Amino acid sequence: MTHAEPYLLTPGPLTTAVSTKAAMQRDWGSWDADFRAMTAQLRRMLLDIAGDVHGDYDCVPLQGSGSYCVEAMLGSFVPRDGHALVLANGAYGKRIATTLRYLGRRHTVHDTGDYLPPRAADVERLLLAQRDITHVVVVHCETSSGILNPLEEIAAVTARHGRRLLIDSMSAFGAVPLDVRTLPCDAFVSSANKCIEGVPGFGFVIAKQEVLRAAKGVSHSLALDVHDQWETMNRTGQWRFTPPTHAVAAFIEALRLHALEGGQPGRLARYTRNRDVLVAGMRALGFEPLLTEQWRSPIIVTFFSPADPAFDFTRFYERMKAQGFIIYPGKLTDVESFRIGCIGALDADVMRGVVAACADALKALGVRHAAPAAADAGARAALDTSLADSSGTPPATSLAA
Ligand SMILES: *Cc1c(COP(=O)(O)O)cnc(C)c1O
Repeated sequence: MTHAEPYLLTPGPLTTAVSTKAAMQRDWGSWDADFRAMTAQLRRMLLDIAGDVHGDYDCVPLQGSGSYCVEAMLGSFVPRDGHALVLANGAYGKRIATTLRYLGRRHTVHDTGDYLPPRAADVERLLLAQRDITHVVVVHCETSSGILNPLEEIAAVTARHGRRLLIDSMSAFGAVPLDVRTLPCDAFVSSANKCIEGVPGFGFVIAKQEVLRAAKGVSHSLALDVHDQWETMNRTGQWRFTPPTHAVAAFIEALRLHALEGGQPGRLARYTRNRDVLVAGMRALGFEPLLTEQWRSPIIVTFFSPADPAFDFTRFYERMKAQGFIIYPGKLTDVESFRIGCIGALDADVMRGVVAACADALKALGVRHAAPAAADAGARAALDTSLADSSGTPPATSLAA
């Protein structure tokens, strides 16, 4: 395994292709026609990935990290007298609630904990009980655990009750299907440094044109006003304020590679293979993934920390890094865990290298077996049972491309 710099097994920033990095080796004038053409191209290509063949939607890129786009979407589309139902099952869902609190928007949080998905029946009950809920906000892939939330059933129940849907598809869009022809939503957001495999610097809001029009004057913030960014971009071809020119140039190249790989289905196929190689290899070492197959995304996998007292995450991390792999700490509130990402310019060979490095790190730490504490695995078994009982059909997260 030779690679000039460590592989990032993290959900963004992530490992980018050599040509994506190389695309940043020149400067662009933000007002220049060449750069305006690049902006127009990236907007068009993102709408294509979203399946917007009828031109009902538009794409508004916005400076900043992904959270800036989430905040811009919420502040621009949830009216000041609106009421948002936030479906939270991890850190990013909680951040949506925190953002709404900062914005002074009324919100109700339906929190299903660290690793339970929100289900349509619960959303329906909440929408019936609180008639003044105007918007449902959901995270597509909750990157804290790697759970793929059942977007299709949430969208269906939201539409059936005449409410509006806003989606944080940050870590899913570009790899997991999100097609506006079949998924009724007002808007969703993602960012440059996730499944499209660009570098950090901006995100984008994809929203219905009518929703963008109606957002005039709603935002509390100038910099995060999606309507104003949209209106200016359509009128002048320019970003309102200094754009991240190098990140945009890198993104254009990343989009080219995305198309070359077969678009969203091609990317999903590679990430799925990465995940399957990773999970099979880790299992052989004794590691157990947190989530059962039904909910496990091809984006990032959470593993229980081994129960063996010789295991120490910091030392494990350092040993992995020394072998060229940057992994990610866990983000669960009640169990010890760590995460390994499947996204970025990585393939199955890299994942096999990750597993070999994990085996080496366990040996170096003197961990004899990587099995989790029985209590942790037991908690998960109980979770599986409760899911089986509480829901009818399994969600449409089967990832056949
Ligand atoms: C990465 C990510 C974000 C945005 O995080 P930033 O650090 O602001 O880029 C938001 N939601 C989800 C689900 C994410 O994975």
